[in-house]
Amino acid sequence: MDWDEFSKWGKQIADWGADYHKTLRDRPVRAQTKPGEIAAQLPEAPPEAPEAMDAIMADFERVVMPGLTHWQHPRFFAYFPANAAPPSMLAEMLVTVLAPQCMLWQTSPAATEMEQRMLDWLRQAIGLPADFSGVIQDSASSATLAAVLVMRERALDWQGNTRGLAGGAAPRVYCSGQVHTSIDRAIWVSGIGQENLVKIASLDAPRRPLDVDALRAQIMADRAAGHIPAGIIGATGGTSIGGCDDIAALAEVAAEEGLYLHVDAAWAGAAMICPEYRDLWAGVERADSVVFNPHKWLGAQFDCSAHFIRDPDALRQTLAIRPEYLKTHAQQEVTDFSEWSVPLGRRFRALKLWFLIRAYGLDGLRAMIRNHVAWSGQVCEGLRAAGFEIVSEPVLSLFSFRTSGDDARNLALVEAINADGRIYLTQTLVDGRTAIRFQAGAFGMTEADAAIALDVIQEINRSLP
Ligand SMILES: *Cc1c(COP(=O)(O)O)cnc(C)c1O
Repeated sequence: MDWDEFSKWGKQIADWGADYHKTLRDRPVRAQTKPGEIAAQLPEAPPEAPEAMDAIMADFERVVMPGLTHWQHPRFFAYFPANAAPPSMLAEMLVTVLAPQCMLWQTSPAATEMEQRMLDWLRQAIGLPADFSGVIQDSASSATLAAVLVMRERALDWQGNTRGLAGGAAPRVYCSGQVHTSIDRAIWVSGIGQENLVKIASLDAPRRPLDVDALRAQIMADRAAGHIPAGIIGATGGTSIGGCDDIAALAEVAAEEGLYLHVDAAWAGAAMICPEYRDLWAGVERADSVVFNPHKWLGAQFDCSAHFIRDPDALRQTLAIRPEYLKTHAQQEVTDFSEWSVPLGRRFRALKLWFLIRAYGLDGLRAMIRNHVAWSGQVCEGLRAAGFEIVSEPVLSLFSFRTSGDDARNLALVEAINADGRIYLTQTLVDGRTAIRFQAGAFGMTEADAAIALDVIQEINRSLP
């Protein structure tokens, strides 16, 4: 492909993208395909001869488009949306054409220095103190893995990387049952092992905080049994129902016991740009590590996870490795972010934050988040008034509900709603019972979309046997 052809197609694809987004409400949110349907349309063998872009693009529309779930749809109320606001897409287009590797300061100084400044903007925006440094990880899962690796190394006197874990006393990590599965996987990958991730019971309170007295007792028992308590992982906004731990109390225990405290606020952390929601993570300034995903509620195209650390030296001590070919002369004065994360290579992710935050201003982003919280609350109250059971009360823009009947009928309702296509919801388990989650957070959502959601849920519920 020559650059004139690239230019022609680049413009066409930009126009195609704008048209796609302008008409997105007309498409079903969730893909309506059956397993294997798309694969059946893809040739089994690669082409030997070059093909024309016209043909490739036509096949994209014909084969790929029907098989997509539309994550940017304004009525995406499942999981948590992964928003890509238009200014962040434009920045990603620039990054795509530049395609830099940003592992060392030297390999792209602007990327490193932009990342430092953007993470400091975000730090200020969510109200963390100035002694936190930030780095962009590809996902919250990676940030949590990095934090767990630091917990492990601290607990093992920085010998885990060298000696491995076999034979010695086991480091232990504590969390509630409300945490995301990325915590379990970080524990597996770090070699700590599921048996040493101790899930402490939650209190029977609305946001299901971890029982801190039970945590203290467990740590004492573990020390007596010869284990090495290493860290605590707190949740601010669990994925299922938005569970929130008492971060101040966890910080207290962590300080008393010399443990490392990591806070997973992957989706809810974005809301902390609004000071009125910061009660949800009161005490976070005493954490050692905090992660939230600008690629969720702030609209920074996936992937972009903001990881704040109070002591980057501990992270570097855990992850930095400097073979001769990566040494640079300026190493003393500059930051090489590849030493702050598990992968070596890294994309230029900070550019989209710069475009995004400038294009909306924090005020624009705050207004959107406040709207989502208010509109989700309207749907919740509408369902309550219509006789649905509210299983978990709203935490920011997330609540869960049930219709009458057993779990099977509730699952049938979710499936019927998603097959209808006007909105997209997912289910969870709360105290062993199926509940239907409603999570507002799509950038393009309006109040009218909330009203449609309320209507669709009631209409489809009436149509079920
Ligand atoms: C989305 C989410 C994650 C995982 O985020 P990734 O960036 O996909 O790894 C972890 N924790 C919580 C609470 C989440 O909402």
